[in-house]
Amino acid sequence: MKKSKILLGIIVLLVAVLLTTACKVKESANEYDYLVLVNKYTQLPNDWEKNVKLVETKNAWDEDIKVEKEAFEQYKKFKEDVEKDLKKFKTTIELDSTYRSVKEQQELWDEWSKDPEKGPDYVKKFVAVPGYSEHHTGLAIDICLKKDGELVYDNDKMIAEKEIFSKIHAKLADYGFILRYPKDREDSTGYTYEPWHLRYIGDKDIAKEIMEKNITFEEYLDSVEDLDNNHSAAIYRIEKTLQEYFKGTYGDKIKSSRFNITKIYTKEEADKDDTLKDLKLGEKDLAFEVEYQVQPSNDKNIKELTVPDGEYNKELGWVTNIQRLGVLKYDSKTNKYSIKEFGTGW
Ligand SMILES: [Zn+2]
Repeated sequence: MKKSKILLGIIVLLVAVLLTTACKVKESANEYDYLVLVNKYTQLPNDWEKNVKLVETKNAWDEDIKVEKEAFEQYKKFKEDVEKDLKKFKTTIELDSTYRSVKEQQELWDEWSKDPEKGPDYVKKFVAVPGYSEHHTGLAIDICLKKDGELVYDNDKMIAEKEIFSKIHAKLADYGFILRYPKDREDSTGYTYEPWHLRYIGDKDIAKEIMEKNITFEEYLDSVEDLDNNHSAAIYRIEKTLQEYFKGTYGDKIKSSRFNITKIYTKEEADKDDTLKDLKLGEKDLAFEVEYQVQPSNDKNIKELTVPDGEYNKELGWVTNIQRLGVLKYDSKTNKYSIKEFGTGW
């Protein structure tokens, strides 16, 4: 009896150890890149939604909302800390809009598109294209203010609260957050000033660098030299170089372009791959697979444009929407990247 109890104990212990190990393995396989880039040109990675760990909470209006787990833990600490500085303004910070799935964004998009008077350009101005909103990541948090017991959530009214937001922004980096859409930086981020839109990037040192240098997230990614070890920086560099590449093809008449870079191969990976080794990548080159959509503007000179693999759509103008394999080639003399071998593969 005693022996079987010990045996049972050992089995229980073994199962417990095995379970913990299994969980740990699963956790590390699910680890994702907090530096993920999603903007008007770069799509949310395909496997993001099935891997993201969300927790449920309530916003300022007591509605159910979701936030990525680690981002929410850090947000709670940030809130507690920053509200000490906001006491003299009798202000607290509250949650507004946080996680939004691609499906929800699509429903929002479809709802707005139903109005025949609005058209695709009008809708695009006010609603992010499904798949291209940072709110899909669960790492974007829109806050609002509670001042003297009253909610302040109107965009213009929040922008007017300069002193309060400067206190809020000063503490963001201590908790791994950045101000994603700084003032007068639409050229880089694609968005006008949004003091309420906070973005969790995880790494406090990088967050401090971005906030102290007063640069955008895109500018930070652009400054990263080691593309092999920073996936988001590699994606940003490819996307940016592709935009330049298409400018060369279509001139300056591009209305919108969007990229979904589905795979990146370093030289080491490409050399091992039978179909890619012929590309003979250099040390700092990358091969990539991309689905892209480029939409040259629909103006009176449209017929002069040369659009390979494209089609003319009465409503949208020229549209190309295809998948390609390409190479991001590094030139050590100019320290610049260009697109080479684009279109090989498929
Ligand atoms: Zn937002």
